[in-house]
Amino acid sequence: MMARWGMVIDLDRCTGCGECMAACHQENNLATAGPEETVQRSRAFHWLRLMPEFSGRYPEVKLRFLPQPCFHCDNPPCVRVCPVQATYLSEEGIVGQIYARCIGCRYCMAGCPYNAKVFNWYEPKRPRGVERGANPNVSLRPKGVVEKCTFCHHRIMRAREEARAAGRPLRDGEVSTACAESCPAQAIVFGDLDQPGSRVSQLARSPRAFRLHEDLGTRPKVTYLAEKG
Ligand code: SF4
Repeated sequence: MMARWGMVIDLDRCTGCGECMAACHQENNLATAGPEETVQRSRAFHWLRLMPEFSGRYPEVKLRFLPQPCFHCDNPPCVRVCPVQATYLSEEGIVGQIYARCIGCRYCMAGCPYNAKVFNWYEPKRPRGVERGANPNVSLRPKGVVEKCTFCHHRIMRAREEARAAGRPLRDGEVSTACAESCPAQAIVFGDLDQPGSRVSQLARSPRAFRLHEDLGTRPKVTYLAEKG
């Protein structure tokens, strides 16, 4: 049976430490942008960002963070606007990007209401020696293409192959994204939303569950759990 991959992020557990961002960079061979790009041109390069959110009034201002990957929407506007079908929705609900087909028009970036995609304005740079530590399961992207979170699709494929070789179905919890795996607070849970007993599907039905901008009809597959109390 096909899975429908999704994620739950518990904001009551998230401390905003940034470990998820660092793990995503490392796992997916993201290029680094220097201070000129990140600070002066606001072109920080992340597949998963920590969005700050302020609430309350001075001096009782409260700051919290929303880790925000691509939401792998079930009705993704980015896919509808791509003129060359370089971005697509897979049968398992993952919104993918075909780098060799991308012409860099950035319509998909304009179409995404969550700012989840990034564009390679320059030939990607990596600190010296980092290439040797690149993840061989994730392709390096060239200048001029749009890229985004893949829900660590390569990990899903590897886990499925291992399960197939062992002659059994994939078990809940067997696949994890780099961000979920690295989170010291275990705030991120990944899994099959269509498997009724899976942890992610149970958490997604929590009374604390909400999704960002549901009113847009994008049907995101990343669910947040509101803080308790
Ligand atoms: Fe596309 Fe943005 Fe939805 Fe990701 S969050 S699927 S990039 S519209």
